[in-house]
Amino acid sequence: MKRRLLTAAIDSATLDSCLMAARNTHPDEFIGLLRGEERNGVVGVSGLLLAPFAEFHPDHSSFSEWHLPAGLGAVGTVHSHPNGVLLPSRQDKLLFGRSGPAHLILGPPYARSSAAFFGRDGKPLEFAIEG
Ligand SMILES: [Zn+2]
Repeated sequence: MKRRLLTAAIDSATLDSCLMAARNTHPDEFIGLLRGEERNGVVGVSGLLLAPFAEFHPDHSSFSEWHLPAGLGAVGTVHSHPNGVLLPSRQDKLLFGRSGPAHLILGPPYARSSAAFFGRDGKPLEFAIEG
């Protein structure tokens, strides 16, 4: 059985908010949640949510998954890699696997070209910037 390939679409204002938050948190790592909905194989991202009890450190960041309200509409996470490596770590893949279908990783210089999306399995997701 062939699985349908997911893609992502993020609105430009939301991407810019994520980039600004990551830039402001640098050299610590920023983490937040992405709000949106999945429809017809496309994960549409339309908002940045600040994660509850988030902690930002140079080499890792975290938030309390116990405090996520139900019905939040979160489709994934966004976090930064201040070292500029736009690939998920082993820990990232564990987080992605339990936190929704689309995950954004950002690195310096925090421009639109230094953003990458990954799926639940940690594999790259093609994405479009809208608006
Ligand atoms: Zn990471």
